[in-house]
Amino acid sequence: MSKIREGETMLIYCCNCNKEVDCYLTNGEEIYPHRQDLYNLKFYKCPHCGGYVGTHKGKETPLGVIASTEIKKNRIKIHSLLDPLWKTKKYKRKYLYDYISEKLNYRYHTANLKTKEECIKVLDILNQLKGKK
Ligand SMILES: [Zn+2]
Repeated sequence: MSKIREGETMLIYCCNCNKEVDCYLTNGEEIYPHRQDLYNLKFYKCPHCGGYVGTHKGKETPLGVIASTEIKKNRIKIHSLLDPLWKTKKYKRKYLYDYISEKLNYRYHTANLKTKEECIKVLDILNQLKGKK
């Protein structure tokens, strides 16, 4: 069982609540009660909406923001456009992330997408890249 220190929280942006929320650290037992194999994983949970985000393996750093269903759907869409661009070796993966970051004027991480507008911007950038030779 992973050791969770009582009362440990972190300020994380929650896409459901549309603001930074003091999220509490918990484990897989609370998030996935039917999946004993996940009990040792750590998560941050939003006390207001119940949304959650996983942490980097063996660490207590969140993977990104707490996504809403809509943001999650958009992330999947983004990956379905982005991943083939580097998996087919059309572009280098690093180049793509640098390119998107440059266009957005901030460091881009799919896990940090907060709004639908941001997702649409990224999808536009990717569609333009896809259209190029
Ligand atoms: Zn929330």
